[in-house]
Amino acid sequence: MQARYDIIVVGAGIMGVASAYHLKKNNPSKRILVVDRFGAPGQGNTGRSNAMFRNTFSSTDNQTLSNSSIDFYTDVQDVQKVDIGLQKIGYLWLMDEAQLSRSEPFLVGMEKNGIELIRHGREDLRRLLPGMVTEFGSNEEAALMGLPPVDGGIFGPKCGRLDPDKLVRFYANEFIKAGGAFAFNTEARALAVGPSKRLGIEGEPFVWQDVSVEGVSVRGATNEMLQAETVVLAGGAWENELLEPIGIDGHVKAKKRQLFSIQAKGTKLESLLHAVGFNPLGLLPLVILPKAGVHFKPVSEENDFWVACEDEVNRQFIDLPEHDLERYQAEREYYEKSVYPILVSYFPDFKDSRIKAMWAGLYSYNTLDNLPFAFRERNLIVVGGDSGSGIMKGDSLGRIVDSLYREEDEALLYGEVPYRTSKLGFKRRDVEREEWVI
Ligand SMILES: Cc1cc2nc3c(=O)[nH]c(=O)nc-3n(C[C@H](O)[C@H](O)[C@H](O)COP(=O)(O)OP(=O)(O)OC[C@H]3O[C@@H](n4cnc5c(N)ncnc54)[C@H](O)[C@@H]3O)c2cc1C
Repeated sequence: MQARYDIIVVGAGIMGVASAYHLKKNNPSKRILVVDRFGAPGQGNTGRSNAMFRNTFSSTDNQTLSNSSIDFYTDVQDVQKVDIGLQKIGYLWLMDEAQLSRSEPFLVGMEKNGIELIRHGREDLRRLLPGMVTEFGSNEEAALMGLPPVDGGIFGPKCGRLDPDKLVRFYANEFIKAGGAFAFNTEARALAVGPSKRLGIEGEPFVWQDVSVEGVSVRGATNEMLQAETVVLAGGAWENELLEPIGIDGHVKAKKRQLFSIQAKGTKLESLLHAVGFNPLGLLPLVILPKAGVHFKPVSEENDFWVACEDEVNRQFIDLPEHDLERYQAEREYYEKSVYPILVSYFPDFKDSRIKAMWAGLYSYNTLDNLPFAFRERNLIVVGGDSGSGIMKGDSLGRIVDSLYREEDEALLYGEVPYRTSKLGFKRRDVEREEWVI
C-alpha cells in the first residue's frame, strides 16, 4: 500500500463507491484509495437494504437527487448494458379517503414538477388485485388494529427496485479500471489532524496554527498512517466514530431496520407476485398498505416477497453502532405480532406464509431533517445521513462529493441537472423537508 494519496475515501458502501467513481472520473490523475473494514464493497448497510427507488417525494431536493440517480441507473443498465437488477415495477400506495386527501397537495406538487403518477380508484384496484380486502365491515380484529379501508391508490411508474450488490460492483469495477485502488479488511481507526505547516514543536497543533486532516490511521493489512491531501468520509452509520474525536458533529444516529423474505413459490402468493396491469414486467409493484407503513415487494427471481415496516417510535437510536452488523438481528416476533396481522388482513393470501430468511441493518438518520448531507470542512468531505433512502440518491451524492472536492458552487447531476453544492451542507443548508414518507 502506498502511504500517500491525493484522496482517501473511508467506506465502500454506495456513498463511498459512487463518490470514488465520480472523483476518479473527473480527476483522473489523482491517486485515490478506498478503505473499508469489510472484505468487499457494499457489505455494510448497502448490502442489507431493500434497494427500492422512487422519485415520488414531496421535497424538491429529494425529487432531484433521486430522479437524476434513477436516470443514471437506467442508463447503466439499458445503455451501458451492465445488469444492476433494475426493474421499474412501480410503487403502489394504498390509502383511505383521509390519506388520499391529505396527499393530494403533495401529488399536485409532484405532477407540477413532471413526476408521473397514476391515480387508481377502489373499483380499479379490486379488478387489478382481486385477492385484496378493501373493507373490513364488522371485522373486530381489523377494528382493534384501526385498519383503514382501501379507497384508492397512487401509483408511481418511475419507481422500482435494483440489486445493491450489482450496483456497487458496477461503481467499484469502473473505479478500478480507471486506476483507483481499494484496501479491504482495513479499518480506519482515526482521522489524523495536524498543522498544515509542521514546526516540529511538541504539542502541535496549537490554536494559532492552521489545521487540516493529514490522513487516516488504519489497522488491517498494514497498521500505518496513510497520508492524504483530502479525506472523504462515507462511513454510513459509523461516521460519528471518526468525527466526534476530532470535534465535528456527524449529525447521524442509527436505527435498526428489518426485512423478512416470505416464500411465494408453490403457494397462493405466486399469482399475486405476477399481478398484471401495473407494469410491462407483469409483476406486482411495491405495495404500501394504509397502516404503519407495512410494505412488500416481489423478488421474482427468487419467487419471494420481501416484507418490511416503518418502525420509528419505540425503536431506539444507536449513537455508536457495533461494527459487526450480525449483532443486529431481525425479530421473528416483530414480524408475527406486528407486521403479519396487518399484512394478512389486507392480503389473506399471506395466511400461514413461511419466513424463508430475515435480516436487519441500520438506517443512518440525519436527525435534523431526514435528508442526506454532504459537506466540506477544510480538506475533509463528509457524505451521509441518507435516512433510509441512500441507494436511490447515491449517484447524485457521489457527484456532489466530487464537486465539493473541486470546490465548485454547483454540481451537475446526471441529465445535466444543476444542484447547488452548499444546499446539503450544514452552514448554508437549504433543503425542503420531506412530507410524503412511507
Ligand atoms: C433494512 C434496510 C432497508 C433499506 N431500504 C432502502 C431502500 O429501499 N432504498 C434505499 O435507497 N435505501 C434503503 N436503505 C438505506 C440504504 O441501505 C442506505 O441509505 C445506504 O446503504 C447507505 O450507504 P452508505 O454507503 O452510507 O453506508 P454503508 O453501506 O453502511 O457503507 C458504509 C461503509 O463504511 C465502512 N466503514 C465505516 N466506518 C469505517 C471505518 N472506521 N473503517 C473502515 N470502514 C468503515 C463500513 O464497513 C461500510 O462498508 C435501507 C437500509 C436498510 C438497513
